[in-house]
Amino acid sequence: MSKILIIEDEEAIAELEKDYLELSGFEVEIEGSGDTGLARALSENFDLYILDLMLPKVDGYEICRQIRAEKNTPIIMVSAKKDDIDKIRGLGLGADDYMTKPFSPSELVARVKAHMSRYERLVNSSAPANDMIEVRGLKIDITARRVWVNDEEKFLTTKEFDLLAFLASNPNKVYSKQDLFREIWAQESVGDITTVTVHIKKIREKIELNTAKPQYIETIWGVGYRFKI
Ligand code: CA
Repeated sequence: MSKILIIEDEEAIAELEKDYLELSGFEVEIEGSGDTGLARALSENFDLYILDLMLPKVDGYEICRQIRAEKNTPIIMVSAKKDDIDKIRGLGLGADDYMTKPFSPSELVARVKAHMSRYERLVNSSAPANDMIEVRGLKIDITARRVWVNDEEKFLTTKEFDLLAFLASNPNKVYSKQDLFREIWAQESVGDITTVTVHIKKIREKIELNTAKPQYIETIWGVGYRFKI
C-alpha cells in the first residue's frame, strides 16, 4: 500500500486530507510540526509528501529543500496564500505540485494519484529489473550476484557464483570440465580442471537438498556437467 506523509499544523485540515486519502486506499501519517515532520520524511520511506508551507520550528521551504536533496519522492506543497505559491515556484525547490488552501479534498486525491503513477512509471523505467534465473526454488540474481534456495539466501564464493551463473545461463547444455575451466578460470594461471570438480561439489553442498541426487547441476558421466531446467 502506498504511504503518504502529511506535514500540516492545522489539525482539522490534516485529518480531512487523511480521511479522503485513506478512502482512496492510501496509508497516511500526519506530523504537525516542521522538525518532527522533516525527521520522519528523511528517515522513513514514504511514496509522497504533502507539505504545508507555514509550520512551527522548520518551514515548508526548508523541508522541501532537504527532502529533495536526498529523495525524488513526489512533494505536493500547500499554502493558504496564493502569493506564497508563486514564491515557491520561483524558488525552484523541486516540489512537484502546489495547491492553495482551501482546496477540495477530491482535487487533492486526484493530484496525489497522478503524481504517484507518474513517479512509479519513472522509477520503473529508470531502474531495469535485475537479471534473474528461477528454477524449482533456486533463485539466482545475476545482476546482484545473490543466490537463494527456497527464499533462504546462500553465500557463494566469487568463482562458485561465476560457475553456477554460467551453467544456469546456458541450461540443458553439457559442458566438459575443460570447457568450464576455460570459461571461468581462463585468465588465471592457478588451478587445473580438478578445480572445477571441487567447485561443483561446493556449489551442490550449498544449493542442493540432496547432494547425492542433484536436481540442478547434473553430472553427465564421462562428459561433464549440465544445468537442468
Ligand atoms: Ca500552517
